[in-house]
Amino acid sequence: MDFELSPEERDFEREVEAFLRENASPEVMDAHPEQLSQTVDTPAKRAFMAKLAERGWLGMSWPKAYGGAERPGIYDYILTEALSRWGAPQPGKGVGIVGKTIIRHGSERMKRAFLPRIMRGEIEFAIGYSEPGAGSDAANMQLKATKVDGGWRLDGQKIWTTSAHFADYYWLGARTDPAAPKHKGITLFLIPMNAAGLSIRPTWTIGDERTNEVFFDGVFAPDESVVGQLNQGWTYVCEALDLERFAMMPIGPLEKKVEALLGALREGTREGRPLRREPEVRSRAARIATELEVARMLQRRVIAEAVKGGVPTVQSSMYKLFMNEAGKRVANAALDLLGPGAQLKPGAAGAPLGGRFERSYRYTVVDTIGGGTSEIQKNIIARRALGLPASY
Ligand SMILES: Cc1cc2nc3c(=O)[nH]c(=O)nc-3n(C[C@H](O)[C@H](O)[C@H](O)COP(=O)(O)OP(=O)(O)OC[C@H]3O[C@@H](n4cnc5c(N)ncnc54)[C@H](O)[C@@H]3O)c2cc1C
Repeated sequence: MDFELSPEERDFEREVEAFLRENASPEVMDAHPEQLSQTVDTPAKRAFMAKLAERGWLGMSWPKAYGGAERPGIYDYILTEALSRWGAPQPGKGVGIVGKTIIRHGSERMKRAFLPRIMRGEIEFAIGYSEPGAGSDAANMQLKATKVDGGWRLDGQKIWTTSAHFADYYWLGARTDPAAPKHKGITLFLIPMNAAGLSIRPTWTIGDERTNEVFFDGVFAPDESVVGQLNQGWTYVCEALDLERFAMMPIGPLEKKVEALLGALREGTREGRPLRREPEVRSRAARIATELEVARMLQRRVIAEAVKGGVPTVQSSMYKLFMNEAGKRVANAALDLLGPGAQLKPGAAGAPLGGRFERSYRYTVVDTIGGGTSEIQKNIIARRALGLPASY
């Protein structure tokens, strides 16, 4: 079995790496990238996205009819991985979730309005599925959509909407048919984030990341803001969630963390004695290196399925579950092995590795929740791969 990139794919990876070296800047890149740390917007980050667009790298796997280059999906993966290793902004939401869903299900008008702007890297999106009573059970969303002349009136609340505080557009699910079974009464809408009646309140996570509550008070969503067919939203959400686990869960941040930790264990000392001589250190280092390799292999199964045109549901769940839980184990190992100083916050004097593992210790918990919790991934694996009954 050949898991390696082809010569052309390697050339592309080298081209992206060279671009990133040329454009490396602390204004654009996080020194200590975490998985979801895509929650800050600055003019420098937008200018960087425009540069990716100039290279033709945004939407490169889309059909030519919509301005894409019909490059195989593996190229999107190579780009995202390289960006994630450098802690650079990633185009996953616009290109991978919104763009791909509009291509499959959106109206011609919506395609013309949004696809070119996504390809130019001009617009940012926020995704609104979760609500106070609809997280793991996202199909239970209750944001109320009432039919009015020329569109819909939206009333209710979303929670955990990452990027709402800087996004240009809001991609959200609302209940358009309250009488239908819960999976069949949801419609997807795409509305401007500055629509009248929308208000946003910050929520800070234990990983220092900002996400948001969003309140709807009579927000008007015109008929043309409906994505695809009325009441078919849940089908599109499920398709997009599979894409999210693929397009937005790169392994780069875990690789960088393991690299940093193993480097510190090789070089570090405790009470004058080299850490690398400690049996506990050597044992856990070997285990961490093995877990990273397992995560890489699971990710390649996801990619292999996606590149064949399949929907890698079970593979994505196995990858997300293992990779995120391994991230937690790496952070735990760092705090155990690097000594008490590893509990110092980023920026504190004397914090080993700039305090990255204190933050990582808190952040890796968040990773196991966003995009579907670890328990939900286990449910998917139990049901779809093992034929076991649902837990609910
Ligand atoms: C940082 C961050 C960013 C996010 N960004 C977004 C975003 O941009 N847009 C968006 O729509 N959502 C977003 N989310 C929401 C995320 O998808 C939900 O938090 C997640 O799906 C869990 O839902 P919940 O928080 O309501 O927890 P709950 O569903 O209430 O779960 C609570 C606990 O019960 C467990 N549990 C629930 N159901 C089951 C079950 N059937 N079997 C076994 N265990 C179960 C869960 O695993 C969890 O441990 C974000 C979340 C975080 C933390």
